[in-house]
Amino acid sequence: MSGYNPYDNVVATIDRAAKILGYEQSDYESLKHPERELRVSVPVRMDDGSVKVFDGYRVQHSTVRGPAKGGIRFHHAVDNNEVKALAAWMTFKCAVVGIPYGGGKGGVVCDPTKLSQNEKRGIARRYTAMIAPIIGPESDIPAPDVGTNAEVMGWIMDTYSMIKGHCVPGVVTGKPIAIGGAKGRAEATGRGVMITAVNTCKALGKDIKGMSVAVQGMGNVGSISALLIEQQGAKIVAVSDVSGGVYNKNGLNIKEIVTFLDSGKKLLKDYQGDVERISNDEILLLDVDILVPAALENQINAGNAEKIKAKIIVEGANGPTTVEADEILDKKGVVVVPDILANAGGVVVSYFEWVQNIQSLYWDEEMVNTRLKAILDDSFNAVWSIAKENKVNTRTGAYLIAVQRVVEATKLRGIWP
Ligand code: GLU
Repeated sequence: MSGYNPYDNVVATIDRAAKILGYEQSDYESLKHPERELRVSVPVRMDDGSVKVFDGYRVQHSTVRGPAKGGIRFHHAVDNNEVKALAAWMTFKCAVVGIPYGGGKGGVVCDPTKLSQNEKRGIARRYTAMIAPIIGPESDIPAPDVGTNAEVMGWIMDTYSMIKGHCVPGVVTGKPIAIGGAKGRAEATGRGVMITAVNTCKALGKDIKGMSVAVQGMGNVGSISALLIEQQGAKIVAVSDVSGGVYNKNGLNIKEIVTFLDSGKKLLKDYQGDVERISNDEILLLDVDILVPAALENQINAGNAEKIKAKIIVEGANGPTTVEADEILDKKGVVVVPDILANAGGVVVSYFEWVQNIQSLYWDEEMVNTRLKAILDDSFNAVWSIAKENKVNTRTGAYLIAVQRVVEATKLRGIWP
């Protein structure tokens, strides 16, 4: 949407929470401003011999509660305001689940679907070298996000290690397991979405078994969410990717669809099954019990919020719902479980990965999943209770906890010098 600035969303949400918490401007003014923003030019030798220069960013929104933490996005629509918003959401995400990090985010303006393996590696390596002065296991730890994956994290780890002259696995999380990645990290965000969906149903006195679910986005988060929610006995009736969506009111064969998509960069439009075709706009408006937006920002906005029929929205993506849409959904009685809680599973297991890297002591997958569930269950219950006590929606409840934690840390540390 033209003129849409996701960072305005962030500031509005901080203001709302700070007002309810009774804070003065001086208590939380610093939260509205990212601590550090770096813009870099990333020259890469392309396969045809030409040199292309890509724009890159790394923003550290806050390091008050610990090192900055957050993913790196490779996408053609990356811009500074988006990265700033994504960095701020990381600050509040880490705060709401109580892990000792601030928030950061990075991105490179490129279309990874149009790049060769060699070109992608060139971007990852040179971008890492350009942001190397501000990242590190003690200062800012990147991770995967839209358009990046474990392989890219491996290149980041190697590049940073080459610069330092020794292996530094803790500089980045979401790495391949063979070079220090945590077991369960690849599935962690989707697992967290599933855990949160189950918890939301329970809190509403319902059972997820038999519920109908639509998932927008079939990247890492959407596909794992769909698989794991289906395993809970829910019926996934629709999923979509960049090429459009598929629908079957009796339920889709998610395993078959995920296997198809994974088999060599396939798109959903080419999937041949017993399905009806729907668009990415239509999938949001389906009459389902649960909607999981797991694609990009600004999907549910003032233009379509009134028409949403889902009763529960679990935000797998970051920032899929605008502030205006939130108000509309609130009035309609739709329960929206916010991104900073619903998709926090990824960064929680990133935290486990970083801890394991620092200690050089590795956990089995069961330990990862058990600890992840414990943190997400506790965080969900805390958010649900504070929202009920204050008669606010779940997003505001989550921000009450998160903003309070960051403000408390800011006050305890004081403004330097
Ligand atoms: N990019 C993910 C997110 O938005 C993961 C961040 C991380 O693991 O640091 O939460």
